[in-house]
Amino acid sequence: MIRIGMGFDVHRLVEGRDLWLGGIKIPYHLGLLGHSDADVLIHALCDALLGAANLRDIGYHFPDNDPQYKGIDSRRLLAQVMHLLHEHSYEFGNADVTVCAEQPKLNPHIPAMQDQLARCIGCPTDCISIKATTTERLGYTGRGEGIAAYAVALIEKKS
Ligand code: MG
Repeated sequence: MIRIGMGFDVHRLVEGRDLWLGGIKIPYHLGLLGHSDADVLIHALCDALLGAANLRDIGYHFPDNDPQYKGIDSRRLLAQVMHLLHEHSYEFGNADVTVCAEQPKLNPHIPAMQDQLARCIGCPTDCISIKATTTERLGYTGRGEGIAAYAVALIEKKS
């Protein structure tokens, strides 16, 4: 049985934080604010995977007031989500992610992000699509106040 899930996340851009996106650190004068490393791309992907399996959401599994997740590398959260899916007899199919950011330009970093996520999930890089867009200077992403990410994922239940 094939199942689909979607995820969405936003984090605020602030001074004094590193910018982690798709499991890589991107050179920029601002970073995303959050309890974890605030990797908004991975968080949206985790929620898409959890949604596909009907296993609640990332905040349910990794509460943002739990000290064990403070500053955590979101690749570890993704690995835990995959572990949860495997426990429920699901296999990863593919994922498609769109990141909305006015700045910095993300396109040069996409192959490295695909590589990181594929390693973490244990799938071919071809199964992870990442797309970057601006929002034409409109809204909170367009004003550079934050970065948003949308993800869809397919998983398959082993018979
Ligand atoms: Mg988040």
